[in-house]
Amino acid sequence: MNYKSTRDSSVKISAAQAIVQGISADGGLFVPEEIPQITMDEIVALGDMSYSERAAFVFSKYLTDFTEAEIRYCTDNAYSTKNFATENIAEISHLFDGAYVLELWHGPTCAFKDMALQILPYLLTTSVKKINLNKKVIILVATSGDTGKAALEGFADVPDTEIMVFYPRDGVSAMQKRQMITQDGANVNVCSIKGNFDDCQNGVKKIFTDEDVKKKLSDNGMMFSSANSINWGRLAPQIIYYLSTYAQLVKDGEIKAGDKINVVVPTGNFGNILAAYYAKNMGMPVNKLICASNSNKVLTDFINTGIYDRNRDFITTISPSMDILISSNLERLLYILTDGNDAQIREWFGALASSGRYEVSEDVKAKLQADFVGGFCTDEETKATIKEIFDKYSYTLDTHSAVAVKVYEDYKAKTGDNTRTVIASTASPYKFSASVLEAIDGKADQADEYEMVERLHEVSGYPIPKSLAELKNKAARFTDSIDKSEQEAYVLQKLGL
Ligand SMILES: *Cc1c(COP(=O)(O)O)cnc(C)c1O
Repeated sequence: MNYKSTRDSSVKISAAQAIVQGISADGGLFVPEEIPQITMDEIVALGDMSYSERAAFVFSKYLTDFTEAEIRYCTDNAYSTKNFATENIAEISHLFDGAYVLELWHGPTCAFKDMALQILPYLLTTSVKKINLNKKVIILVATSGDTGKAALEGFADVPDTEIMVFYPRDGVSAMQKRQMITQDGANVNVCSIKGNFDDCQNGVKKIFTDEDVKKKLSDNGMMFSSANSINWGRLAPQIIYYLSTYAQLVKDGEIKAGDKINVVVPTGNFGNILAAYYAKNMGMPVNKLICASNSNKVLTDFINTGIYDRNRDFITTISPSMDILISSNLERLLYILTDGNDAQIREWFGALASSGRYEVSEDVKAKLQADFVGGFCTDEETKATIKEIFDKYSYTLDTHSAVAVKVYEDYKAKTGDNTRTVIASTASPYKFSASVLEAIDGKADQADEYEMVERLHEVSGYPIPKSLAELKNKAARFTDSIDKSEQEAYVLQKLGL
């Protein structure tokens, strides 16, 4: 299986190369040249495997240049109870009639990013060896809060790697910030940007594709790679939990093999929901993929109108990991929906870069709407949903997962669709204690994040994740804060170049 660039279909590289490189030199994203298929028998068979075995089976279809032993080395190291609080790795909670919450946050940083970032360092270091690169890999990360910590945790002290994380200074929760600035490891660095997530991401993308910078690194035995979901090594692991969930629901007798399900995903950069789209196109029966946004509803508008327009105010919400106006992975979807029309992708994404807007053809819009439904909700609605679900079912949602539940409730009320539905839950409520507590008991006080964690424990009864409890006694290591214009110079300086 080879990988192509969304902006140049003539690029043809192996999975290992795609993972090492992160992004194509033309600015495009790597996609498998075709979507591998999985039969219903194969999906059902996953039900009797451990999560690591399920992952290995799915990876074997995408990472065809990896040996079975290499794949198992990666999956066994990543998906074990060393790193995850539960043996199932991803847990399924039966929320209400016909709706299941897929809890993707039992990893070390309590957000779904762990599902991919626990394995990415193994995939990456294995890939580097496979292609005989004798280079130190420099991971640059732009984060809206959760990716940064999950990437730091995954890469800390991994030999021959160094990781630098940039986060928007006023755009992450107190707990997210605390998690990042206390990170251990000799090869890690964390810095805030005076700007929003898009500023962080644009800066990182620019540095990645700057020929002078790349040459400087290369001359010094280094190279960049990415831990953002523009890296295929982030996307592939996310496909697994959808197939795994389907298999588990069949095994548990909740659905019959062949039944369609809906999948609801609280969306930002479009990575998680794109993975569900891949699962569908591999052969998992899906009715609708429901893309849930907060007030930064650029994707809702796009799905409804075919017009992508980022020319609007960036709104800081209580679901900060979804505060994004440029959803990078949409490029992969559009490449598929245009049957691999790289010229068309260059045109649209060139327009996005220059004017912040593009409009897809009627044909592409029709294909988009055949698979996807878009919806959004406000902070007020998010809080009301947390309260409603808590009161009715004694289940505590985080702010991002609550957006998904609300958008699903609206969809169901509007369409009457009773298809069994899997709602991706992307963070532990403890990561967003202030907003969750305010939603549940109405008190918006200024207690420090640990008092709030204690209070949330009393209210929800959920055990406090060990990794969050431990932060209390850790010192802040990283306090740098820079202007977005200084990002490139900062990176070079930190690398001693
Ligand atoms: C990253 C993140 C999202 C958005 O996921 P995408 O793959 O970027 O769409 C949603 N919720 C949480 C908690 C996240 O960390």
